Amino acid sequence: MFRRIRAGDWIVVVLLLLPVLVAWPRWWPRPGAGAAEVLSALGHLAGVLGLSALLVGAMLSVRLPGLDRWFGGLPRIWTLHRILGFAAFILIMLHVVWLAFGALPISPEAAIQVIFPPLEHGAVWIGWGALALMLIFLAPTFQFFGRPHYQRWKRLHLLSVPAFLLAFAHAVMLVEHVLLWWGLAALAVAAVFWRKVLSPRLGRHDYTVDAVTALASNVVEITLAPRGRAMSHAAGQFMYLTPHDPGLEAGRGEEHPYTISSAPGEDVVRVGIKALGDASRALQTVTPGTAVQIEGPYGQFFERCEPQRRQLWFGGGIGITPFVSGARALQREPGGGPDVTLIYLANRPDRAYYMDELREIAQGHPHFDAQIHYFQDRGPVDEAFIRAHCPDLAEREIYICGPPGMVYHLMGLLSRAGVPRGRIHTEAFDFL
Ligand SMILES: Cc1cc2nc3c(=O)[nH]c(=O)nc-3n(C[C@H](O)[C@H](O)[C@H](O)COP(=O)(O)OP(=O)(O)OC[C@H]3O[C@@H](n4cnc5c(N)ncnc54)[C@H](O)[C@@H]3O)c2cc1C
Repeated sequence: MFRRIRAGDWIVVVLLLLPVLVAWPRWWPRPGAGAAEVLSALGHLAGVLGLSALLVGAMLSVRLPGLDRWFGGLPRIWTLHRILGFAAFILIMLHVVWLAFGALPISPEAAIQVIFPPLEHGAVWIGWGALALMLIFLAPTFQFFGRPHYQRWKRLHLLSVPAFLLAFAHAVMLVEHVLLWWGLAALAVAAVFWRKVLSPRLGRHDYTVDAVTALASNVVEITLAPRGRAMSHAAGQFMYLTPHDPGLEAGRGEEHPYTISSAPGEDVVRVGIKALGDASRALQTVTPGTAVQIEGPYGQFFERCEPQRRQLWFGGGIGITPFVSGARALQREPGGGPDVTLIYLANRPDRAYYMDELREIAQGHPHFDAQIHYFQDRGPVDEAFIRAHCPDLAEREIYICGPPGMVYHLMGLLSRAGVPRGRIHTEAFDFL
């Protein structure tokens, strides 16, 4: 995912390092300084870097169609956001520990005083408050106590807002160059304000459920028609769907990401939805005419490659949806584009959603071939099966979307088959 550096990565690096560069002259130890002075300086710099990681991480919670392309798609922004959150936590812990060790040569009491000063040193206690809140909202994120319930995790994550306000207050009470910190904090607040307050009002498109087609038990394709401004997308992109039907059993007003299965340029937007939890189960019986909002499009699944190189697609289960959009796009441009082979990995025939349509597209398109592999009959897919349908796999650009076990199995198989890692592109249906 991070093999190519994107424009957005440079912005992140600059924003992260700016406060460190500014703080450097004040905190960097003098030549010949002892271990205590070095530790104390490192403690301060770790605090500076930790806070800037927290603020830049908050900026990356922004969701703006188009902006995510600077970073290689929204899933990649979320990975960066998680890395920065984790780095901020470690750096802030180091900030406390190193500052205490820096004072240890004076006396153990001095070391304790640095981190637990009298109550009138409010700035330090405010810093402790920030760290305590971070501990509470990060523990489920890093799954210290198992996999959390997604919506509860999302609500708990809102504690990040007071945490970062307290961390910011701690810093501005203690550091110089306050203007720089205010600038960074303003960007972070703007990002969160857009995401939580403005985007639900200004960033969404109004659509109506036009049709609900059953594809299998617990899997439907929902067709949505625009009620106003329509959204346009590229194949492989996804969007957030927010239903508002008061009759829905679950998920009313919640936003959930779904890959767009319609081809770019269609008048309607289609999404294939498998019941994986309460909200996606409720959508199986949503009634035509229901008002929904959609936000997006996000992601760059098919754009991470040489566009003219031949392609091999692996879709597993409901992970077939980006390839359905890709195949429908090919159908609209008969004769154009590079050769594409799709291998659909399904458990058994009744779980091979869209297969009839994919075969029909393949029959009418000279550059598209669709093959099916049933786990029930053959076990995990092997190299012989793939080579039988795609002998030049090592020369192709490869796209994989499906359950984590399937992606892991294919990654190992493809690397043993000599496919360079840089040619393999994966998409996960899971942000947490
Ligand atoms: C980029 C992307 C594309 C996706 N495309 C499709 C698709 O085409 N078809 C399809 O059926 N499913 C797709 N999903 C999965 C779909 O978003 C989840 O199945 C759905 O959100 C589950 O919600 P729930 O309340 O029914 O289940 P829950 O029990 O609440 O969630 C089940 C799991 O889904 C994930 N999830 C839930 N809510 C969200 C959310 N708001 N944001 C991110 N992840 C969430 C979490 O990992 C959670 O553990 C996609 C997910 C992502 C991230």
